[in-house]
Amino acid sequence: MAVLLNGKQISLDIENELAKEVKTLTDQGYRAPHLAAVLVGDDGPSRTYVRSKIKACELVGYRSSLIKFEDDVTEEKLVEEIERLNKDDDVDGYIVQLPLPDHISVERITDHIDHKKDVDGFTPTNFGKIDQEHNSLLPATPMGIMELLKRYDIETKGKHCVIVGKSHIVGMPMSILLAGPGDATVTVCHIFTENLAQYTRMADILVVAVGKHNLITPDMVKEGVIVIDVGINRVPDATKKRGYAIKGDVEFEGIESKAAFITPVPGGVGPMTIASLIMNTMEAYKKRQGIAEPTV
Ligand code: NAD
Repeated sequence: MAVLLNGKQISLDIENELAKEVKTLTDQGYRAPHLAAVLVGDDGPSRTYVRSKIKACELVGYRSSLIKFEDDVTEEKLVEEIERLNKDDDVDGYIVQLPLPDHISVERITDHIDHKKDVDGFTPTNFGKIDQEHNSLLPATPMGIMELLKRYDIETKGKHCVIVGKSHIVGMPMSILLAGPGDATVTVCHIFTENLAQYTRMADILVVAVGKHNLITPDMVKEGVIVIDVGINRVPDATKKRGYAIKGDVEFEGIESKAAFITPVPGGVGPMTIASLIMNTMEAYKKRQGIAEPTV
């Protein structure tokens, strides 16, 4: 039976560590770090994610602000707000919650975000620095996965890591982190990969970020594999009050008995993404305040 990679617990550990650091800094007379979140429209999951991020800020003692826009906000208005946040000395980092409505170009918005405040790690500058030793802010989900592996003493060096999904926010940056600082051999699979199982069966570490429930079945993995399930899927479930359950991309029940380690969904990668966000906010804050490591 696989060991569960408990992202929920690890993220709480990280939050406690950061809370201590915030206390030390504020006792020394520094102001608390400040994270802002921009939310466009009324998308249910987006509202939930933003709420969790704000809750995490409160837990560690950061200040947070939520800036809301209606669905029909213009791209120009959103760019104006981003320029304002870039200039606001009081804000250390901010996120623009995705997805954005179709009439707004994510690329154009991301291009306007000051990379020093880009705590999601989505801007071209931060993306380009992923494999540099003194990089700035790493993409939050891949960063959280690397942290989770590290805290469970899982070595990536020399391992064959297979990533399914090549998005700009998960799959692609994950491949750079694993092949670069992680010293792993990396295979990236995607929708056009022929015979996906042929690759997933070769994985020592399998990272799946697709958004298709049960895409990976037990016959597609080898004994002893380490499975990181990034997927978030709403699956109808009449036993739940809200009518659905949150499930990953991996057939958990069948794979759990073959794997050495596996992330649950929920409670695996999701909380680690939020933990990365608040770690990045601390990093951005310290750079802005000129605070050198270590502070505690
Ligand atoms: P995306 O939705 O932008 O792209 C999906 C990727 O999957 C593409 O690269 C596509 O080529 C690939 N793909 C689609 N069908 C496939 C198939 N049948 N076989 C192989 N590859 C296939 O990706 P995303 O934004 O990284 O999101 C992926 C999933 O991860 C979603 O469920 C999303 O909600 C979830 N997610 C979770 C977190 C978290 O913190 N837990 C963070 C980001 C995304």
